[in-house]
Amino acid sequence: MFKRFRRLRMNENLRSMVRENFLNINDLIYPLFVVNGEGVKKEISSMPDVFQMSLDEILKECKVIVDLGIKAIILFGVLENNKKDSCGSDALDDEGLIARSIREIKKEFPNLFVISDLCFCEYTDHGHCGIVSAKTKSVDNDATLKISAKQALVHARAGVDMIAPSGMMDGIIETLRQALDQEGFENLPIMAYSTKFASSYYGPFRDVAESAPSYGDRKSYQMDFANAKEALGESLEDEKQGADILMVKPALAYLDVVKEISLHSNLPLCVYNVSGEYAMLKAAEKAGVIDYEKLLYETMIAFKRAGAKLIITYHAKELAIMLKNKVKL
Ligand SMILES: [Zn+2]
Repeated sequence: MFKRFRRLRMNENLRSMVRENFLNINDLIYPLFVVNGEGVKKEISSMPDVFQMSLDEILKECKVIVDLGIKAIILFGVLENNKKDSCGSDALDDEGLIARSIREIKKEFPNLFVISDLCFCEYTDHGHCGIVSAKTKSVDNDATLKISAKQALVHARAGVDMIAPSGMMDGIIETLRQALDQEGFENLPIMAYSTKFASSYYGPFRDVAESAPSYGDRKSYQMDFANAKEALGESLEDEKQGADILMVKPALAYLDVVKEISLHSNLPLCVYNVSGEYAMLKAAEKAGVIDYEKLLYETMIAFKRAGAKLIITYHAKELAIMLKNKVKL
C-alpha cells in the first residue's frame, strides 16, 4: 500500500493550510548606500533600481521604505576617493559619513531599525577590509580588531540599532562585544557576517560600493566557497563569541550551508541575497525568459525553507509591494 501524497494537494485551501514556509515583510532588510553631497542619486548600471544616494535622498528613500512597511535597513557608506586613507579614518570619526547618516536617519525615523555595516574597505585607499601590514601586504588581523572596536563605538554613539561587522577578521565578535559592553552598549545586538565566502557574486556590489581592492584579493580573510565544514565551524565560533544573529553571504548558491548552520545553531539566521543574484534575476526579466515575480518569490521561500529567518535583499521594496497587493504567486 503506497502513500497518497496528492491527497493534500487537491485543494488550494488545503494546500495553504499545510504550507510550511511563508515570506513576511518582517523578514526583509533593505540595503542603502550613502555618499557625501546633496541631491545625489546615481543608479548603478549593473543593478537597476539600486542607487548611491546622498543623505537628503536617503532620507526621502527611508520615507518610502517606512510607508511600504519595511522594518529595517542596512547602511553602507561609500566614500569619495580623496577622503580615503590607509586606515579608513572617516569611519572612525563621529562626524564621518556613516556616523552622520545614522544620526540623521534615526532622528527622522526613530522606528526604522538601522543596521550598520562595519568594515573598512569603503574607506581605505587600498580597498582592503582593514589595516594592511607593510611587511606581508596582507590585512593585519589584530590591528584591524582595534580600529573595528573604535568604529563600533562611533556607530553606537550615533544611535545605530544593530552592528554587522563584515570584514571576516578572527575574534571580531568578541572584540566588539567587549568594547560595546564597556561603554554601556550591552543591549546593542551584533549580527555576524559569520559565513562570508570569497565570491564572484559580489561583482555588481563592488560597482556600487566602489570597494574593489586596488591590489590582491580578499581570499586571506573571506572563506573559500568550496568549504561547508569551515562555514559551520566559524558560525559556531561567532555564536560562542557573542553574536546575536548569524549570516550566510551569498545566499542562493549556499543554501546547503544555511541548512547546516540552522540545524546546529539556535540563533536567528540571516542570508544576504547579494548583488550578483539580484543582477541575474533582473537580467533574466529583461531578456523575457522568466516569470519574474514568481521566480523572485520562489527564491525567497527557498531561503526560508533552508532555515533563514531574515533576508537582506535589493528586492525588498518590490517584495513589500507584492506582499501588500497579495500578488497571486
Ligand atoms: Zn570590507
